[in-house]
Amino acid sequence: MAPTLRNLEPIVSLAKRRGFVYPSAEIYGGTGAIWDYGPLGAEMKRNIKNAWWSRFVHSEPSVVPLDSAIITRREVLQASGHESGFTDPLVECKDCHTRFRYDHLLEGQYGEVKKNKADQTQCPNCGGVLTEPKQFNLMFKTFIGPVEDEGSLAYLRPETAQGIFTNFRNVVDTTRQKLPFGIAQIGKAFRNEVTPGNFIFRTREFEQCEIEWFIEPDNILSKKTNSIEGHLRSASEWYDYFIQESMTWFQNHGVKKENLRLREHDKDELAHYAIAATDIEYNYPFGWSELQGIARRGDYDLKQHQKHSKKDLTYFDEVINERYLPEVVEPSMGVERAFLTFLIDAYEEIPEDEKDGRKKGEKVLRLHPSIAPIKVAVLPLVKKDQLPEIAGDIYKVLLKRWAVQYDAAGSIGRRYRRQDEIGTPFCVTVDFESLDDKAVTVRDRDTLKQERVEINKLEEFFIKKLVP
Ligand code: ATP
Repeated sequence: MAPTLRNLEPIVSLAKRRGFVYPSAEIYGGTGAIWDYGPLGAEMKRNIKNAWWSRFVHSEPSVVPLDSAIITRREVLQASGHESGFTDPLVECKDCHTRFRYDHLLEGQYGEVKKNKADQTQCPNCGGVLTEPKQFNLMFKTFIGPVEDEGSLAYLRPETAQGIFTNFRNVVDTTRQKLPFGIAQIGKAFRNEVTPGNFIFRTREFEQCEIEWFIEPDNILSKKTNSIEGHLRSASEWYDYFIQESMTWFQNHGVKKENLRLREHDKDELAHYAIAATDIEYNYPFGWSELQGIARRGDYDLKQHQKHSKKDLTYFDEVINERYLPEVVEPSMGVERAFLTFLIDAYEEIPEDEKDGRKKGEKVLRLHPSIAPIKVAVLPLVKKDQLPEIAGDIYKVLLKRWAVQYDAAGSIGRRYRRQDEIGTPFCVTVDFESLDDKAVTVRDRDTLKQERVEINKLEEFFIKKLVP
């Protein structure tokens, strides 16, 4: 089903009300485009990162992990081109002082582009005159040590990738990886975005899941295919591989296929380092937009770091006895964008009254069990007659494996609704019959099917249902 949301308001309010996402430093009025993740949000974010890690690090032969520093020496980001080139064109309305990203304005992201009689592009807000576009660098500055001057200037990394490139030599020397291989990292990145917005879609502090996948350039590969049996994947084939595998990953974790599409970048919109790039786009309530990027970075980064650091970053290929710089394919996913996407795609307002008392208009998050913050809720029917004790024991057993909630407050129907709204796939109800038959009722959030399961077989039951 296509997303029915016309705007983000229901998601923003549910996220706040149920403790997924809060404005950062809210008691001081919030911090522009910076958010904190509450108890359910922290759990769900961790689930997203674990699901990605499990697929792309643990299940991908030849990918090794890394955890590099956030504070980055200026030289690294001078070499990578970020200090001079990681900019967005900024314009400001001379009348209402609203700021816009000029490229987004020309693309029509703020509505139809209008011009005044002097052929100047007008402010989409008030029709006023805009300033000339100024290039604005997106990196956050900081200083290392007590003196704040040019010599101590450093940056908060704008992507996790550079820490991977500057450690390429270390990883090759210490792990003896042979091409092709990847280095993966999940971590914070910071961009002082000119026009952040759409809730957590574009923020100034976010996390990325990135792999730099190092491969033989085509001219090397041709020498190797001559000498070795079998087909070796080229850079462009690896690029296709990561595009397809990333698409599949989103679908395997519940995102509907029809809400995803691929968009290849035109040559003139490619980032300074890229020779090709494709976005996985999602059909957000505000239009199709980038969820994840997959780029071919060529040997740009290693070449730049080799030049600026004057250290040899070539790879010695024992098969052909040659040194060269590998090429790179990079899948890069934003954790918060994935988070927003999972929430939107799972969100449903019930269209008609349903059999177990679920009413039209009630909210259900149909999150995949791997992403849902709480996997099982344990609910004693009443707060007496031994039912809370039995439920408490079940809760303690399940808690050893999964994020589980115990809820004894209010009617059973109201407790089901509370769990539906936060995406809990299963509720376990302990009722009077449980005293005799030593079994409980398990309710499925999506099918509303209720089945009786023996208490001592519950763990086994959920192991099958909750496989990642
Ligand atoms: P955009 O065009 O939306 O600014 P980008 O092309 O600059 O994004 P990349 O540099 O390719 O983004 O970053 C890779 C991924 O990191 C993006 O696909 C997105 O998921 C995430 N990302 C980038 N910028 C932000 C941001 N400001 N807030 C949240 N996530 C972001």
